[in-house]
Amino acid sequence: MENLKPLFPELVPGEPVIIAGPCSAESEEQVLAAAEELHAGGIGMFRAGVWKPRTKPGGFEGVGVQALGWLREVRERTGMRVATEVATSHHVELALASGVDMLWIGARTSANPFAVQEIADAMRGADVAVLVKNPISPDLELWIGAIERIRNSGIRRLGAVHRGFSSYEQSLYRNDPQWAVPIELRRRLPGLPLLCDPSHIGGRRELVADIAQRAMDLGFDGLIVESHCTPDRAWSDAAQQVTPSELLRILGGLTLRTAPEVSSSLAESRAEIDHIDNELLALLARRMKISRAIGSYKREHGMPILQPQRYEELLRTRAAQSERLGMSSEFICEILRAIHEESVRQQL
Ligand code: PEP
Ligand code: MN
Repeated sequence: MENLKPLFPELVPGEPVIIAGPCSAESEEQVLAAAEELHAGGIGMFRAGVWKPRTKPGGFEGVGVQALGWLREVRERTGMRVATEVATSHHVELALASGVDMLWIGARTSANPFAVQEIADAMRGADVAVLVKNPISPDLELWIGAIERIRNSGIRRLGAVHRGFSSYEQSLYRNDPQWAVPIELRRRLPGLPLLCDPSHIGGRRELVADIAQRAMDLGFDGLIVESHCTPDRAWSDAAQQVTPSELLRILGGLTLRTAPEVSSSLAESRAEIDHIDNELLALLARRMKISRAIGSYKREHGMPILQPQRYEELLRTRAAQSERLGMSSEFICEILRAIHEESVRQQL
């Protein structure tokens, strides 16, 4: 993505961007206590939800506009940048009028192009930093679409936040990370700052450190983490929040990979990978050519394209073979399914 500006001029290039603070602003005391402790620990950016999107009615929906005053106080007392979530044009107007430095679009909102467009229109011409969280489903185009809508309204201090994806299946995580999706976002929009939200991915505070480390290993530009002075008493997302001191401990324990990009042994290995990929592509092209010839034979002899027994046999033998070669059979079956699908298409 071109013509972007740094989120804030004071950020040091190459150092991870850290935004921390409670899930929700609950009271003036709670907000100021968290901000002061985080600021004392060297954190420069503070987050707190003023309006909270809740799955069901009746939950705590945020204290609303009153909390904007508390964020202003954080700014005045500590000099921290302050960030909050906006979900409607009215939220945008109120937050901008209150001098909020950074706005984020939540996962439920970024899934809705009408809502994102309304928010983008309300931001037009504003000099504010904006983060777009991924939509709750792993739909990369929807995520990119939301980012483009904001960018088309003239916002140049823009970033994306990976907060995981909602899934029906029970897993270790509250929101499945599916790291391939943000990795593909990075490929599609190079130059767009990409942050990770380990709190909403993990859903449990014990998982925050490992997820944050994984994000750093994958070259994310920073983290947005939920932190509350008394997490167990938090009015929202209690299980996933960490105290400011725990957060500082987690951040201090992160290994950052700052070595220059390419060493000669890495370059050699990459050349070897390039060579193998070329061979793989040539083999696949050869396989497809044979497939097309088989397709002609089947047509001439009135045979159906799909031969389920043959396909089953092929999956079974290759799966066993791949295990012997030290690769998971699921992985190979997934590749074979894709190849088979294309073969069938070429035989149609
Ligand atoms: C939040 O950051 O508190 C939040 C509601 O996040 P998400 O939109 O990722 O669920
Ligand atoms: Mn939260």
